[in-house]
Amino acid sequence: MIEDLSEAFSSFLHMYPSEEKSYWDEARAISARGGKSLVVDFEHLIEFDFELATETISRPYKYIEVLEKSIFEVTGQEMHVRFKNLPEIKMVKEIRSDQIGKLLGVEGIVTRVSEVKPRINLAIFQCRRCGEEIEVLQSGEVMKVPGVCPNPSCGRSGPFDLLEEKSEFEDWQRIRIQDRPERLRGGEIPRFIEAILRDDIVDKVKPGDSVYISGILRTIQERGRKSTKTTFRKYLEVNYIESKSRGVEDFEITPEEEKMILELSRDPLIVRKIRDSIAPGIYGYEEIKESIALQLFGGVARELPDGTRIRGDCNVLLVGDPGVAKSQILQYVSRIAPKGIYTSGRGTSAAGLTAAVIREEDGFSLEAGALVLADGGIACVDEIDKMRDEDRVAIHEAMEQQTISIAKAGIVATLNARTAILAAANPKFGRFDPKETVSDQIDLPPTLISRFDLIWPMEDRPDPKRDEELARHVTEVHMDPEVRVRPPIDPELLRKYIIYARRNAHPRLSKEASERILKFYVEMRNKERDEEGGSVPITVRQLEALIRLAEARARMRLSNEVTAEDAEEVIRLMKECLRRVGVDPETKRFDIDAIMTGRPKTKRERLSRVLEIIKGYYSEKGKEISEKELMELAKEEGIPSSLVREAINVFLKSGDIYEPKPGHYMPLH
Ligand code: ADP
Ligand code: MG
Repeated sequence: MIEDLSEAFSSFLHMYPSEEKSYWDEARAISARGGKSLVVDFEHLIEFDFELATETISRPYKYIEVLEKSIFEVTGQEMHVRFKNLPEIKMVKEIRSDQIGKLLGVEGIVTRVSEVKPRINLAIFQCRRCGEEIEVLQSGEVMKVPGVCPNPSCGRSGPFDLLEEKSEFEDWQRIRIQDRPERLRGGEIPRFIEAILRDDIVDKVKPGDSVYISGILRTIQERGRKSTKTTFRKYLEVNYIESKSRGVEDFEITPEEEKMILELSRDPLIVRKIRDSIAPGIYGYEEIKESIALQLFGGVARELPDGTRIRGDCNVLLVGDPGVAKSQILQYVSRIAPKGIYTSGRGTSAAGLTAAVIREEDGFSLEAGALVLADGGIACVDEIDKMRDEDRVAIHEAMEQQTISIAKAGIVATLNARTAILAAANPKFGRFDPKETVSDQIDLPPTLISRFDLIWPMEDRPDPKRDEELARHVTEVHMDPEVRVRPPIDPELLRKYIIYARRNAHPRLSKEASERILKFYVEMRNKERDEEGGSVPITVRQLEALIRLAEARARMRLSNEVTAEDAEEVIRLMKECLRRVGVDPETKRFDIDAIMTGRPKTKRERLSRVLEIIKGYYSEKGKEISEKELMELAKEEGIPSSLVREAINVFLKSGDIYEPKPGHYMPLH
């Protein structure tokens, strides 16, 4: 039987992929360059002998061993045979116990990767009594040790020493994969499975990678505190692994769907229809929905000749009172986006939003957070102000460079996080106050706030007209959801439309469009190059944002050209956004500083900023600050000396500070 088997395999290897260049030839070439694995396309085996293929799937260990043996006999080198392209591909959640011991194809996203460790395959023990060396093959998870010494003249029960230098080790790595978010229906919790990689396939994938695995489903018996249980934990012994395209590239669009998409793109009202297809159950918020629509399409990422990369993804922040439908909107978007993830600021795993090094019982692992898992898609981050402290640092890099670097506990890696971020934040003091600056009201550093292309405050202020309309809308939705909540474009089609657009449209600015944007930028800069301190109305960040948004708008029409109209429409949107968040309370003029640095140029706030500096210095250094140092620190923030002097007088009088020695100041408590 085995004889026939190895003969059958041998002729398979000779005949496929073709007789001129067969697997045999390949195996010889691989062994000549010291390679360790021969990859066989399983389709070929099916074509060659259907029964042999089916048997290989049901009894992979035996069949693969025979294959590897016949290769060894010819090439004289041990080689792994790895099967790619198994006929059936399962999702992690579909793996069941009837597949135990079988070879199966699984697709998923890598969430966790352990360090690479040496694992013992063949342990050589030495009997301390007689010096006999004993080989013990290690196939399981628990180390097998000899019971008694096999030397007939000894036969005692050790003790035995492990001879490390004579034993055989191989590289070993454990990874965790779960179902890709875009393959799960909204709200479904992804299941995961662990997979073991050995030898030459370790260290080939990173957290966040989409992978295809051929593996054998195996089990480990679970242990209670004192006894072993009757339940088992399953894992995959990986035979073959490959990284797949990320994001949404491999979504299939049929020719009929393509026809519908192209037809839709010619609709003169397409931009509006897309906007109205976002969260139709939510009343109002046209600008927000429009921003989100733009975000779903995104601009074009550009790789500059010097290697720097400019992101194409747009980031949008919603700030507002409780109960204004922020969470509802985010959840809706995560459901319709081609690759959308909904997460809270804390993240859904220990890795939070970015990534983390996790301590497991047997070492360290690197785990991907939400932004890495959403790579190539959109991450909807609710209550972003509640994110972990570790994320506060790492998310800066994620939002501009779109990578996450981690170096901890010996694990060093850079993960991709090319994702658009739609975030929501609650105001620190419960309610959003339009008279205060955004950065004063949310618990996020200004450096992070400035990485959002558009920021929308959402207020819940009583307004009789709006209230009535909203109430009408909400009650109607409840009365007749089928009619009221039907989006102009079916969500399934919209998703395909977005995928199609991202794949096929790569818009560039037309001359007219770039002139409009330029003109707006220069005008805004000039308007405020002014008086006291010189506040900056708009920065290069907003300029880049405008370009991205304009490109996204062109993409909505599947166009490769950004028109003057695209430019004008996004300028209108940006102006509206600036008007709502950036109006300096005193000057009523645009002041981007107010949003980004949290330092509006009103006198009152600059005075109180001086007090903060004095307090900050004291809590950091534990001593009073000299007038000279105070002036220097204030100058860095654009506060002139005259104002510092005035502040000192004000706060000495009010008793907030005192002067322990001349020209030195301290807070009173
Ligand atoms: P938030 O996250 O902003 O605190 P939620 O998303 O939890 O608010 O919304 C609270 C509830 O109010 C939801 O059921 C939501 O549908 C409803 N709601 C709030 N504003 C609107 C609106 N403009 N249109 C329809 N429903 C709304
Ligand atoms: Mg909420």
